[in-house]
Amino acid sequence: MLTISKELEQELQQKIQASGGVIEKSVLDALMVKFDIEIKLLLQNLLPIAASFSIAPISNFNVGAIAYSNTSGCAYIGSNLEFNHSALCLVVHAEQSAINTAWLNGETQISHIAITDAPCGHCRQFINEVKQSEQIEILLPNTNTSLTELLPHSFGPADLGNQTRLLDMSEEQNPDYKLPISQMLFEHYQASYAPYSGNKSAVEIRTVQHGNFYGRYAENVAYNPSLSPLQSALSQMALSGLTIDMVEVTEINLVETEQFKNQSGVSEVVLNSFEGNFEINKVYVS
Ligand SMILES: [Zn+2]
Repeated sequence: MLTISKELEQELQQKIQASGGVIEKSVLDALMVKFDIEIKLLLQNLLPIAASFSIAPISNFNVGAIAYSNTSGCAYIGSNLEFNHSALCLVVHAEQSAINTAWLNGETQISHIAITDAPCGHCRQFINEVKQSEQIEILLPNTNTSLTELLPHSFGPADLGNQTRLLDMSEEQNPDYKLPISQMLFEHYQASYAPYSGNKSAVEIRTVQHGNFYGRYAENVAYNPSLSPLQSALSQMALSGLTIDMVEVTEINLVETEQFKNQSGVSEVVLNSFEGNFEINKVYVS
């Protein structure tokens, strides 16, 4: 392992917090020169910083993941997020979080995912939804492997007749659509990925001092590993060093598709795991 000074660690943590989990190519390039190290080793050495964003009150098991694109040269941080007093199936895994960060920041390709520990079956299935997942290299503490090796004979999107993949550019564009929501929330709604239920959906959390946080629905062919838009937004908050009960929230807006809606209930359950009285404004698109 590299010796990363406390100062550099704090500087990187601040950059990650300010950007919602992104490490820009220029920063990675400078680090590769500074430490005379190639990208894969650098990503693995940055994992403790990713894991420092973990919120794991149930397991006390801090997981860090970093998704990397060799096209854009950017890295995207992920950490696990557990909710006290809520069903364990609502936990956000670090690998989901990293892919979510990449997706929300407009990334269209992931070539590598570095993880502090071997990915669980749930995460292998989640990664399998990503575009060109068969080409993703998985960097683990003691070995580098591939998703294909970790998930042979897989059940994938095509098995349910879905020809699209997570991180594909969303084809549906309707910029003129008028809804009582912000333009940014509408864009996340449009970019959400719901090929199985049809319920495009997104969440906006508006705060007084820390800006707005967004999340999008990311479905999975095996259904259970799907990431709800609220989980997606809360994961982004965690990467900013925040939880929803430590900031002043002015509004939580959920937009989903009227015909297929399925996110209202799960959003309330997740919010109920926090101290405080959170109300969700629900907007349905017909
Ligand atoms: Zn996992």
